[in-house]
Amino acid sequence: MNILWIQRLSCCGNTHSLLNCETFDSLLREVSFLFHPSLSAEGEEEVVEDVLKGKLKVDILLVEGAVKVDDERIKELCRMADYVMAVGSCASYGNIPALKDDSVCGLQYRFKEKGGLLGSDFVSKGGLPVINVSGCPAHPEWTAGVIRSLSRGIKPELDSWGRPKEFYSSLTHWGCTRNEYFEWKIEPESLGSKKGCLFYNYGCRGPLTYSSCNVILWNGVNSKTRAGTPCFGCTEFDFPRAGLFETKQFAGLPAELPIGVSKRGYIMLSGIAKVFAPERLKLED
Ligand code: SF4
Repeated sequence: MNILWIQRLSCCGNTHSLLNCETFDSLLREVSFLFHPSLSAEGEEEVVEDVLKGKLKVDILLVEGAVKVDDERIKELCRMADYVMAVGSCASYGNIPALKDDSVCGLQYRFKEKGGLLGSDFVSKGGLPVINVSGCPAHPEWTAGVIRSLSRGIKPELDSWGRPKEFYSSLTHWGCTRNEYFEWKIEPESLGSKKGCLFYNYGCRGPLTYSSCNVILWNGVNSKTRAGTPCFGCTEFDFPRAGLFETKQFAGLPAELPIGVSKRGYIMLSGIAKVFAPERLKLED
């Protein structure tokens, strides 16, 4: 498998993330990078020229960073690759670079609008739309996992936002060590506290965000919520948002409830939960 990694409007966070991949050595034994800005000695220009002239075949094109709406070179590369992966939320949905610039977008989306640089109907030679490995940055094991699947001839099944279901079919909330505090509506006293759920006051979007951050841990040991920082919802199309560390409320209720929970159900259950919370959970850190 020949991999080509191209950067556009990016902070290089997805590159740094991938270089932290615990299985990176074994990945390098399975695939070869025609070019990667942090791994290659040769220049990008000559490799890209050879690809465009048909001298080099690209099996998977990975784009890191948001793109300009008229980036013809990326468009051409996408047409030549068997599969196209948008690595990170900038390449997937536009993210920060697209916030205040209408000429910037993701490969196949601009936030929730489908289209982006390539258009909503784009399908790569291998028969898939852009595979969005969203996240700010994308988890290294998700990026490596998709590359590995494709290199073994397995096409990932995608959700309605172009993300591989294998990594994005459950909520970030799933597997968080604070679930018991969520159920009994117990809040932490401060950020960084080992106990308490960050949903009620500190803006945690774990119950509103699809990612496997609490199942496939970062560096094999941790996640934002386990460390006491709220989930910012960075894998969703509407990232980033203002007020990442606060829960917007109306009349004492979170403005956005966990996916699938009705307002009535939330009011009934959370009132009871708080009253009957077990004493052991109320202990100080
Ligand atoms: S901290 Fe966030 S992810 Fe963890 S239980 Fe609370 S709401 Fe869910």
